[in-house]
Order: sequence, then C-alpha cells, then structure tokens
Amino acid sequence: MTKGQTTHPFTRRQFLETGILGATVVGLSSTLVGQYACTSNRDKMVYGACYHDCPDCCSWEVTVNQGQVTQFQASTSNPFTAGKLCNKMDKFPLEVTYHPSRILTPLKRTGPKGSGEFTPISWEQGLKEVAAKVQENINAFGAQSVLPFGYAGTEGLIQNGAMSARFFARLGASKLGRTICGEAAATGTGAVLGCTTGVLPQDCVHARYLILWGTNTINSNQHLWPLVQQARQQGAKLVVIDPYRSRTAQEADWHIQTRPGTDVLLALSLIQVLLEERLYDEEYLRNYTTGWESLTTYVRDYAPEQVSPTVGLTADTIRTLAREYAQGNPSLIRVLIGMEHQANGASAFQAIAMLPAITGAWRHLGGGLLHYTYELAGQALNWDRLALDGTLGDPNVREISMIQIGQSLNDNELAPPIKTLFVYNANPAVTAPNQNLVLQGLRREDLFTVVLEHFITDTARYADYIFPATTQLEHWDLMTSWGQDYINLNEPAIPPLGEAKSNSDFFRLLAKELGWTEDYFQETDEDIIRSAFNTDHPFLKGITFKSLRQKGWARLNLPQPWIPFKEGHFPTESGKCQLFPPDGVTLPVYQPVEHAAEELESFPLQMMAIKSTSHFLNSSHANAERLIEAEGAPHLDIHPDDAASRQISDGETVLVFNQRGDLQLTARIGDNVLPGVVSMPQGYWSSLLPGKSSANALTTDRFTDRGHGAALQETWVQVQKIG
Ligand code: SF4
Repeated sequence: MTKGQTTHPFTRRQFLETGILGATVVGLSSTLVGQYACTSNRDKMVYGACYHDCPDCCSWEVTVNQGQVTQFQASTSNPFTAGKLCNKMDKFPLEVTYHPSRILTPLKRTGPKGSGEFTPISWEQGLKEVAAKVQENINAFGAQSVLPFGYAGTEGLIQNGAMSARFFARLGASKLGRTICGEAAATGTGAVLGCTTGVLPQDCVHARYLILWGTNTINSNQHLWPLVQQARQQGAKLVVIDPYRSRTAQEADWHIQTRPGTDVLLALSLIQVLLEERLYDEEYLRNYTTGWESLTTYVRDYAPEQVSPTVGLTADTIRTLAREYAQGNPSLIRVLIGMEHQANGASAFQAIAMLPAITGAWRHLGGGLLHYTYELAGQALNWDRLALDGTLGDPNVREISMIQIGQSLNDNELAPPIKTLFVYNANPAVTAPNQNLVLQGLRREDLFTVVLEHFITDTARYADYIFPATTQLEHWDLMTSWGQDYINLNEPAIPPLGEAKSNSDFFRLLAKELGWTEDYFQETDEDIIRSAFNTDHPFLKGITFKSLRQKGWARLNLPQPWIPFKEGHFPTESGKCQLFPPDGVTLPVYQPVEHAAEELESFPLQMMAIKSTSHFLNSSHANAERLIEAEGAPHLDIHPDDAASRQISDGETVLVFNQRGDLQLTARIGDNVLPGVVSMPQGYWSSLLPGKSSANALTTDRFTDRGHGAALQETWVQVQKIG
C-alpha cells in the first residue's frame, strides 16, 4: 500500500462472504436477431460486467430494443477488457439468459431426491411453504441447523451476498467457511507482505523476467496474456513453473515441470541460492525487511542438491533459475490458483512472496509479486455500509466448512444437525470435494434443501424447492475484481424473464414471509450500491454511482506509478516485509502427507483435478451444448510409462478410482504430466457424463496446512483399462 494508508482488515474471505467480494459482438443470430435485431432510435445501450469467479472482470455493452437484447459485446473503451470477452461468455445471452432450459418459475420436488422431477408452483406458494418449513426446523433444532451454501457463482457485491448476508445473520444460521479458494494463498502471501496486493497487471509489461507460477494464464487470466506477450516483445523472458504442461507452459521460453505439491521446497531452495550466492539487494533487505538473518539460517537445509529428488528438478535447474531471476530485474512473479490446492499450499505462497524482497524487485515498476487486487476496492468502498459489517448477527455462531460439507451433512454427532440448506451461486454436487459423500448428504430425506438457480444443475436435482434466479442481464450489481483495478456498475439491461427474481429479492421476500420488518430488508439493490460510494477514499475520487452509470466502468484512482513497496511501507505491524514470522513458528514448511503403505500400493498415482477446461468456468457453462462440444469428452492425462505398464493406449476409455469413487475418462498419453502423476479437468457435470461421476468423486476433502484451503492435489488414484 502507499505511504500514509492504513492497513485495512479486508480479506479474500470478506470479499466472498459479504458480496464481492476483437470487439466480440454476439450475433444474437438465431431467434432473437430474426425477431428483434434492428437499429433504431429505440435502441438503448446498457453497461455491465462479467460476474464470474475470474480475475479479469470484463466490462460489456448490451444493446436493447423493446426489452430484448439485440447485441452483446465486450467493452472496447475499457483498456483492460480491450474489446474481448472469452469464449465462455461471448454468447452469454443465448447460452444462459435466453437458453430454452432456463428455469423460469418456482419448482417443487415431486420425485425422489436426485431424480430431477419437479412441478411448477407460484412464488406465493413456494415462499409460504419454505418459510413454514424453515420455521419448523428452527423450532425443533435451532437456528444453527440452517446453513447457507453460497459461493462465487456471481461475484457481484449485491447478488453474491449483500442481502443474503443480512438474512442469515438475522436468522442466526450457521456460517459457511468459504475457504475452498483463495484463503490458503492469502494466508501465505499475507504472512510476508501484510496483504496480497502488489504489482498491478498492467505493469507486467515493464518486467524483464517473468515467472508465471502455478497459473495457466492463457486459459484463466486471458486479459493478462497480451500484456505478458508485450513484455516478451520488449525483451522479457517467460518462465512457467507448473507440474502440468498447460497451454501457457507450452508457449513459455522455459517450462519448469515440478512434482505436484513441492513448490514450497523449490521456493525455499531458490531463497537458499540467492542468500548463499549473495544474489540479494542488501540495502533493501536491511531497510525494508525483518528476519533476514534468521531466514538465512532456516534455509540452509534447502540447498538445491537436497530438494532436487523431491521437486523433480536437477540442482542445476534450480540454481540457474535463481541466478536468472536475481539478474532479470525488473523481475515479476505472477501467482494464482494452482498451488493453493496443495497440502502445503499456504507455505508455498509464503515462501514465494519472500523472493521479490530478497532481490529488491519491489524497487522497480513491474517488479515484485502479482497476486490479488481485491483489497483495493475493498478498502475504498464503504464496505461496512454494504455488508452492515459488525452490526448484525452473532459472531459466535458455528462455522461449517464448504470443503467438508459432505462430512457435515452426514455427521450423526453434529449438534444441531444441518436440517435446512440454502444453495445459491453454487453447485456443490460438482464443485465440492469427496463428491459421493456430498451426494449422500443431499439425498437425506430429512434435509430440507432450497436452491436458487438458472438451470437444473446437479445440486438443484436434489432440491425440495428451486427458485428461478435472474442473470447478470436482469439485475443490478456492483463488480470489483480480484485480478485488476477496475470497478463496474452492472445495470439491468432487460426485465427478468418469466418469474425470475434476483437473489436479493428472494431473501427480501422470504424475510417478509417470516414476518421480519427491519429497515435493512427494505433497501433496494440500487440503494445499497449508492451507499457503497458513501466514502471519501482517494481511490474513488471522481468515481460515483452517476459517473459509472454513464460509462459502466472506471479505473480506481491509484497513485501512479504504482510501486507500492519501493520504500517498504508494507501493511504489516512493523511496516516491513516479514521474511521470518514474528511468532517464529508459522514458517513455510514442506510437510509431506503421510499415507498408509496399503493406500499408496492400491492407489499409486497422484491426481491433479485442475481448471484446464477453456470453455467452462468451474461448473458454469458445462451444460451449454456448443461449449460441451468444443471442450470434448473429459480426458485423463497420463505419462507414457504409466500407460505402458497398464497396457493403456491413447484414446482408450479408462476407469480411474480410489477409496472414494470412480469415473470413466479418455486416456491422453503424453508428457503433460510427469511419471506417477495423472491429471483431469474439473467442471463437468456428473449427470451429463457416462458414469454419472466427475473429478470430485475422487478428490480428498482434507485441509491445507493453513487457511483451511482444499488440499485437492493430495488425491491418489489407480487407473485401469475398461474391458
Ligand atoms: S469469464 Fe473472465 S475472461 Fe471470460 S468474460 Fe468473464 S471475466 Fe472476461
């Protein structure tokens, strides 16, 4: 942060808990264009932004005529969006809002749970029956028997959580531990820097040595990729560190393929080389860091020769990387999601976050660490007003982890048991680990499940009631980003289709049905958004509700050039970068998970379930015909040695299994993974696959070292031919 700013206690968790957190023109060619495409003075332009759990947060423009969308395109004026939406979203109106399978009335279950059999009912009936059942369960089991399961299906401040947070706080429901993504990473980086915001994405063009570490930028951070390319054109070397040979790794100047879960060892070893070979910026270390001497002692055991067999790299490779990194100033490390799903995920981020301070990379524009950015808008907006932070709810209510939701739903000792489940902005039947345990819980006859959705997802199939949710084209929202520094107002372009209602309206109406009359339930979405600007924070200078309405987006008013830690000013207690934790205990460590010998014998391959699809976002769009076709059947990446020892041929269907479940995949033999490692994509809906199982049928629900992240990569499997 810049000098003079105070540390804001704003976390990635708050971001999710409380609400945020070439000119692609859609030919709305089919029905809509036939019926409505015309350019007349009745055309209206409405601005909005993508709602997905994606760092890019693209701005868009919607042309509307007679209440129908006639054109949908990326913003050409927003420099970061640069006129391009990704292939997941470029046909969003047709593939989501106007999709013929969209739910447009409330539905009540008529068949067994999971059958997907429902009958339409009125909102009046639905709300009345839901309110009565919720009240009955509260009377019998207490308010904490109610659990909200809402995550990042939309990251808009309003529809993500502004009203639902009020509702569940007023009710006294259990809290959901929203830590499946981000928390382990933020814990690690935050332990060193005091925050997660460092270099801005636009400034990566100034870097001359660029490491993309655990991130497939071409797929999952698409608008950063042209900036990376620009840096390369200006002379930067691009290094990708990833156990998976992703599209981005294939494009790099150097792909360093590690064994999954060993990044913390690699980072500690790099530190050891930098310190041993005096490849450091002594003045920066002396003036702006703490614990340098202790760190030097600590990393003595991590010489490249010692870690090399575990990391899967030669000692020479590690030394060369350390030397090049030290000499490549400005050097930039971009970290994102990959490593946080390792058992030692927080430790990996912590060790990596130390590197730029050791070399003094923070001194330079474009040098340092590029991680999250959500703290920027998080501290600028009137967050307390948005979430009524600290004024509502009992801080002592219990927390149920979303990662171990399967365990909690099946726990006979849990007191009180979970009896009512509200699912919104989420599809845990696909996205939560240990899928079969989750489904077993959702199948419970005594569990009352309410789902707000656009489609009958794998989770919605288990609902007692489904309520039709609006899409981003039909509701207000305020979008901030965890991957760049723009803010967007999303104005409804069209009225809600059918009987769809926004998430916030659902919770307002249910509050009313329960007889709650508090003023905060009367505020409209627009009221809440306006109140978010009730602040004089300098980052919002010149940015108002009114100005956003005229253009849709604005770049936060950050000091330029943005070199936040050039002279220290880290938002830690000491104001310095913490190279050794003040408690002397929470050091980055590599602690391999111990598995029983029989387990490793039965399931000898380490499995990575990764976001390698380029047409789905988590489980969103995995029901869109065009995108399913483009993505193809889910595959298993397997090394030639492991395929040969199992007599598996390329393109063959294989069974992948462990103690938690099994699924069928198409074998793809090659060097995308190292021997002993297999990889498969996440996001496919189980209900649309032949074996009715997807990647999370196999994943473990164990936690990471710190931050209660999901150690998904600590999953071990066996693979065999079918037939
Ligand atoms: S998913 Fe990401 S890249 Fe695609 S349109 Fe949305 S914000 Fe942009």
